[in-house]
Amino acid sequence: MILGPNMHVLLVEDDPVLADGIARILRGHGMVVDVVHNGDDADRALQAREMSVAVLDIGLPGIDGFEVVRRLRSRGSQLPVLLLTARDDVQDRVRGLEMGADDYLVKPFAAPELVARLKALVRRSNPRSVDLQLGGLQLDPFARRATIDGLTIELSAREWAVLEYLMQHASRVVSKQQIIDAILPWGEEVTLNAVEVYISRIRAKIDKAGITIKTIRGFGYMLEQSAR
Ligand code: CA
Repeated sequence: MILGPNMHVLLVEDDPVLADGIARILRGHGMVVDVVHNGDDADRALQAREMSVAVLDIGLPGIDGFEVVRRLRSRGSQLPVLLLTARDDVQDRVRGLEMGADDYLVKPFAAPELVARLKALVRRSNPRSVDLQLGGLQLDPFARRATIDGLTIELSAREWAVLEYLMQHASRVVSKQQIIDAILPWGEEVTLNAVEVYISRIRAKIDKAGITIKTIRGFGYMLEQSAR
């Protein structure tokens, strides 16, 4: 899953090589990234610009990461903040969380973990702001609107629910039963065959989006990006 173009990250890291590497990874996931290299610039950027999330190194020239978060929270900002700590130091973590950080990662960390943590932070802080996007297909969960390359496609309520579930689990195999459990209010009857019907209708509607719903024989489905 790729988050929509509205995810804007402030990256604060004084090591230029690490900063470049992280920025490249996040941009590769469709995020807009501003990079600053010291605490004072971070403090200014956070006052001047609208962000979705900040990734903040603790050890910085000028004011450190703790102080940047403290000032941010003292201004009443709820911006999600993920701290990067240089070592697995419990004191640093506790202090960071006390200052108002939401999460932390210990260096060195794996890129997919950073991406996953940031998405989770943004989703938690403002679930409405995050569209689901894959290939040319975009779902706006708040408006319950699905578009392919900007053009709205019509989906029934159940088709929407199935597609939303598949998008939330893109590139992962899901069983028919998982789909049923996810889309139905408790107690309502839906057969495995009905799921197959929804899937075939959805396939017909999204076949121009550059994504496919693969059948995993005897088990379920997997939504993934394909060539257009
Ligand atoms: Ca540092």
